[in-house]
Amino acid sequence: QPIISFKNVNKIYNNGTVGLKDINFDIPRGEFLVVVGLSGAGKSTLLRTINRMHEISSGEITIENEPISDYKGQSLRLLRRKIGMIFQDFNLIKRSTVQRNVLSGRVSYYPTWKSVLNLFSAADKDRAIRALERVNLTEKLYTRADELSGGQQQRVAIARTLMQDPKVILADEPVASLDPLTTQTVMDILKRLNQEDGITVIVNLHSVALARQYADRIVGLRAGAVVYDKEIADVTEAD
Ligand code: ADP
Ligand code: ADP
Repeated sequence: QPIISFKNVNKIYNNGTVGLKDINFDIPRGEFLVVVGLSGAGKSTLLRTINRMHEISSGEITIENEPISDYKGQSLRLLRRKIGMIFQDFNLIKRSTVQRNVLSGRVSYYPTWKSVLNLFSAADKDRAIRALERVNLTEKLYTRADELSGGQQQRVAIARTLMQDPKVILADEPVASLDPLTTQTVMDILKRLNQEDGITVIVNLHSVALARQYADRIVGLRAGAVVYDKEIADVTEAD
């Protein structure tokens, strides 16, 4: 049974731009899926419909067999815990420590006033250290986020999502601003979380070469539509 399923999904933005066009596919649990396509192809739109950052215009998305479109309040909060997300520009709180940034992955478990006052439990502080161990950054616990390199910042962002015990990680161009060596480090971590923790990973990439190196399956988008969908074993040089 797929963890995520798209059925006849269309997304048209308020200004009339087509974001997604008749998307139909299933994502099996535990897959490392890479979505490729030129800028504007709809990759980011696709990811953002999965955690309801964007609403679809028609069709249906189901996660673990439940349609997600009617979720609100607590059910939407639970969906967003299940689905971690990382971004090209990391989205960290720049002037806060790594520890505070990682703990922020846990704010939906606290009343707002507690998270504002930084009143996180000892258990969650331990959890933050374990999350940083997964990305090899425990030594940076008290460093300010904006003193880290780009690759280190992305690893903090990954640790932050791990605080939710996500079943799925969505990564929207996570390496677009990183150099080649750092790119491998970040992609290796995503691959390890996929293989060792069974987290389903969906990554948007520009580079088909990088997609080939890490994906179980590659989906190509153009103008919001799927124009390519192959298991890595079936991908040839001609592709
Ligand atoms: P990609 O991630 O592949 O670069 P996007 O999903 O960001 O593509 O964009 C797909 C299309 O939707 C593009 O034409 C883009 O300009 C448009 N688009 C994206 N976000 C919005 C928005 N919030 N409002 C209107 N159009 C948007
Ligand atoms: P949605 O209906 O999915 O919430 P909206 O059309 O309301 O999306 O736009 C969300 C935000 O994205 C708006 O603030 C809009 O100004 C901005 N936006 C508009 N066009 C684009 C674009 N081409 N790429 C990215 N963001 C855009």
